[in-house]
This record gives sequence, structure tokens and C-alpha cells, in this order.
Amino acid sequence: METNAKIKQADIANLRLIRYPDPRLREVSTPVDEIDDDVRRLVEKMFEILFAAPGVGLAAVQAGVPVRLFVACPTGDPKDRRVYVNPRIVSEDGSQEEDEGCLSVPGITTRIKRRNVVTIRAVGLDGKEFEETGEGLIARLFQHETDHLNGRLILDRMGSLARLANRRLIKELEDKFAEGTA
Ligand SMILES: [Zn+2]
Repeated sequence: METNAKIKQADIANLRLIRYPDPRLREVSTPVDEIDDDVRRLVEKMFEILFAAPGVGLAAVQAGVPVRLFVACPTGDPKDRRVYVNPRIVSEDGSQEEDEGCLSVPGITTRIKRRNVVTIRAVGLDGKEFEETGEGLIARLFQHETDHLNGRLILDRMGSLARLANRRLIKELEDKFAEGTA
């Protein structure tokens, strides 16, 4: 299906955050064809979900729409709305290891090794391509959200010890989902 058709058929007003182990989180998102009103409505809804959570970043797939798009507000200021359509990492350097969490994997925080400086190329809501280089938290956010677009979660990047330490929480999320209460 054409990507924008996926957005058009989504019930944008009723989108909500989806959580592990919802299988939709494993879908590889497809590129957005063009910036149109549906994309703009989807972005609005994603910021609503992000600010309600609250969190610093949200990929469209976390709202159940598997298209290559994420939004971010790393400063927590509601005016600081960053939109990345069809993002791709074009360079990366250094390394960092910090605690990381995910709105779709609530309650779990784990140390994850990431690159420390990352440059991303994306299209903005104005349809123009731009490049942004982030360091530390921003670089981590770029990598975390790019992982979502490729169907990857922090659980996949956890070490086996961390997985063991969090197994009760992971099981709880799986049970909640199975009961339909997630
Ligand atoms: Zn996440």
C-alpha cells in the first residue's frame, strides 16, 4: 500500500500509544510519499500523545501507523516541536552508554550503548530536506526513534543480564497485553 494511503485510512483522532508486545511495533515503517494534510494531522496527534505521556520522542509506529516519521521535544517546552519525516542517519561517531527508556515499554529503563554524535537527514513539515547533528541525548533520541522505524525496541538492545533483571516487568507487559488491558 502507498504510505500516505496508510495514513489516510488510520483513524487519526483515535490513535493512541501502543505498547510492547503489540506486534505492530515490529513492523518496518515505509517512507512517507508526500507532506499533505493527513501527514500534518498525524503529526498533531503524535505531539498530543507525546505531551500527554510525557516523553521526548515518538515514532508514528508507536501510534500504530508504520510510516517513517518521528516527532521530538527534547527540551520539554511545548513550543519546541521537531518533526522528522523519512529520516536517515548519515553519519555517526563516538560512543555513550546511558539509561534509556521507551514509552512503548513502560517501567523499563536499561543501559544501552549508542553512538555519541549522530547526523540525521530528514524532511520537515515544510517539505524541505534538512540535516541536524545531535550529541548525547539528541543523538540517543535519533538512534532510538530510527530503531522504531525499523521495528526494533530497547529490549532487543538489552544485554542478557538486563533482560534477566527485567524479566518480571517484561512478563507483566506481556500478560497485560494478552488480557487486553495494555
Ligand atoms: Zn521508544
